[in-house]
Amino acid sequence: MDITLVQGDITTQEVDAVVNAANSSLLGGAGVDGAIHGRGGPEILEECRRLRASSHRGGLPTGQAVATTAGRLPARWVIHTVGPVYAPGEDRSALLASCHRESLRVADELGARTVAFPAISTGIFGWPMADAARIALETVSAAETSVVEVRFVLFDATAYGTFNDLIMKFARKS
Ligand code: ADP
Repeated sequence: MDITLVQGDITTQEVDAVVNAANSSLLGGAGVDGAIHGRGGPEILEECRRLRASSHRGGLPTGQAVATTAGRLPARWVIHTVGPVYAPGEDRSALLASCHRESLRVADELGARTVAFPAISTGIFGWPMADAARIALETVSAAETSVVEVRFVLFDATAYGTFNDLIMKFARKS
């Protein structure tokens, strides 16, 4: 699998599936979630509402993932996952790793071969970028998946730089 990095907006990515840093209600929010629903249009929210009325009555638990249409986005699917809120006194990194693993598992079920991820939990949920980047890169590179490209889409230059520094270390190790 290739791990690639771009600085930009995840809603413009031409990939099979885009991962959404959703909240457990699945009914939309700010940040990436707001951008995906805003640009993808109402079809995504309609499908989220159907999930809430059927298989996901209690919402989506932290660390899990579920797919919907991508509406008007260039992608075919949105894979919604709920990152953990950062808690300084508690190690929630297994949940953040789970978001990445579960998103790739759902991608495999869909037959998606190219998947774009945002930096899950690093916005409103407060996770320090370098630690989130380490967890994301370690988890994705260790995953057994048929996905051929995982593209991390970083919103600003600082986030891009943080991922880029780490990916160099990964490259040197392998
Ligand atoms: P969370 O609630 O999981 O922290 P956020 O959406 O608040 O999710 O933020 C996650 C990351 O996504 C942050 O680093 C934020 O800067 C970034 N982000 C926000 N909008 C976009 C976008 N349109 N494309 C890519 N990344 C984005």
